[in-house]
Amino acid sequence: MSLFWEPKWVRMKLTVDDFIIETCVDKTTNLIACPLCVDIDLLCPEEGASTTTEVKGSLFFTAVDLVNHMRTHASKISDKKIKVSEEEEEEEGEVPEAEEG
Ligand SMILES: [Zn+2]
Repeated sequence: MSLFWEPKWVRMKLTVDDFIIETCVDKTTNLIACPLCVDIDLLCPEEGASTTTEVKGSLFFTAVDLVNHMRTHASKISDKKIKVSEEEEEEEGEVPEAEEG
């Protein structure tokens, strides 16, 4: 038994409701990678499985959790667009509060 996580990422197509999500699934733990957070071409190239433990992104135990997470991506992207224009107008400069006493 190994103390290390030895994943085996394979490319899979998951069907949830009417969604078909192509992403990487670890055959060892059944963890599902978010294809929007994770570069699935690196994590699980179509030619074969990879065994990397360095996954920069979100992992999920169920496809339903993944779909819920992917729905939040859509709102995050629109949030970002709004933030970018707001940040440009942001001014620096704090007004120190006057202390009484
Ligand atoms: Zn994600």
